[in-house]
Amino acid sequence: MPWVCVLLAALWMAVVGNLPLWRALAALPELGNTRGLAFGLAFGVGVMAMLVMVLALFTWRWTLKPAVAICVLTAAGGAYFMRTYGIVIDPTMMVNVLLTDGREARELLSWGMVGSLLLTGVLPAVLLWRLPLRWPGAARQALWNAITFIAAAAVLAGAGGLFFQDLSATMRNHKQVRYLINPVNTFYALAMVGRKPVQRNGAAVLPLAEDARLPALAPGAKPPLVVMVVGETARADHFGLNGYARDTTPELARAGVVSFRNAWSCGTNTAASVPCMFSPLDREPFADRTANTEGLADVLQRAGLAVLWIDNQAGGCKGVCDRVPKVDDSELQVPGLCNSNGECLDEVMLRGLDERIAQLPPARRARGVVVFMHQMGSHGPAYYLRSPPRQKRYLPECTTNALQQCARDQVVNAYDNTVAYTDQFLADTIGWLKAREKDWAPALVYLSDHGESLGENNLYLHGLPYRLAPDAQKHIPWVTWLSPAFEQESGIRMRCIAQLRDTQVSHDNYFHSTLGLLGVQTSVLNPARDIYGACRDKAPA
Ligand SMILES: [Zn+2]
Repeated sequence: MPWVCVLLAALWMAVVGNLPLWRALAALPELGNTRGLAFGLAFGVGVMAMLVMVLALFTWRWTLKPAVAICVLTAAGGAYFMRTYGIVIDPTMMVNVLLTDGREARELLSWGMVGSLLLTGVLPAVLLWRLPLRWPGAARQALWNAITFIAAAAVLAGAGGLFFQDLSATMRNHKQVRYLINPVNTFYALAMVGRKPVQRNGAAVLPLAEDARLPALAPGAKPPLVVMVVGETARADHFGLNGYARDTTPELARAGVVSFRNAWSCGTNTAASVPCMFSPLDREPFADRTANTEGLADVLQRAGLAVLWIDNQAGGCKGVCDRVPKVDDSELQVPGLCNSNGECLDEVMLRGLDERIAQLPPARRARGVVVFMHQMGSHGPAYYLRSPPRQKRYLPECTTNALQQCARDQVVNAYDNTVAYTDQFLADTIGWLKAREKDWAPALVYLSDHGESLGENNLYLHGLPYRLAPDAQKHIPWVTWLSPAFEQESGIRMRCIAQLRDTQVSHDNYFHSTLGLLGVQTSVLNPARDIYGACRDKAPA
């Protein structure tokens, strides 16, 4: 009978597919008594009833088995990632998943994953598929489906009603729980993402700051040469500069940079943070935006500067570099700096940079050059691949992408090696800039797109919904270095910036501060968000 298949599938998903949910509920202190246990059981019955309701809609001769297979496989996949990385599946995470490229996805593969999917997904799906079913006539089946649906709805309402207070308190105090209900979370997230198209390509992008202009350089002044490093997955509290117990950033300290110690990201993953950083909007208005507009790179270019985007991430720039000259990672291949997957160490972005800049339009170069470098940085879970073998300062390090199989301090070692490598890369970039001081007024700004969880409370990686994410995923490093020539010509002083190092700043400041740093004038620039402008000791010419 079809309903046997429905019940078995729902039971399997409710019990095995929702292990991460049951584990999360079991860990809640308020469920640690008899009433809590009863509530947990009722929650389980409710989840199962919900799944029966969904399947009842598909209980027809040609649709039931495909529907069961899709649900069971989805549940197995969702459960694996929630269990392994402590993530939850919400619309933000789904955007991130949908924008993941093949190479990023390969990095998540492991034998553990294959085994887990076979055991909890493929095997039950095959067994359920082979279940012999005898189908009654269509009219009787419709009646059966209606009865099943109504009965399951009654059970759901009963379980919810009986424990209404516990349920509403749990949902209010532990919002992440709803994103653990598997596989409903995946279907919900897909539906939400489908409703609101992801900003991806150049189609229907509204112009921004059409009044942007750049005052002429003073006679004899050198044009600015600014490297804006868009970092990846770096957390502020693992920077020696910010007081981390390990001195992970000795080179930056020697270079005399200023580090903002109280800086916060706009999102908890690249696809959320990068477009938000490049937008003039603050975090919340950006999330609510109804149209796609140009961003920071477009405005700098419109003002007359030569802009270049160099991308060392296969995932690309999430749309923010679509209208400026771009070098993507396939063009960066240098033997010795890239592995067989085509993935390169960040220093590859400095190779051939003079030639790339020389190819930008001369009239623009004479006004100034802005090079965005999109780092691979500390991208997980394979941290050990992000630092070269010659530079493993912290050992032993975790050398697998299955982070939960390593001791936590080995995960931290591998991660700290990526931070130390970023320190080296940024110092090398400053060295490269200094070597060009004769013709240019150089500066460098580095900040990360978001942070990372390294196993605290069993959380790994990043991408939790913003409100729920721990500070580790949102507290980011932001480093500034201005050459004496740049200070002289912009009137912005490092000494003044250093005094602001404990001021709270965020990605909301990035767009406005970058325009302020380069002296771009536009009505879109909000001086209240421009932290560098606050340090300008003379009005721009
Ligand atoms: Zn990122």
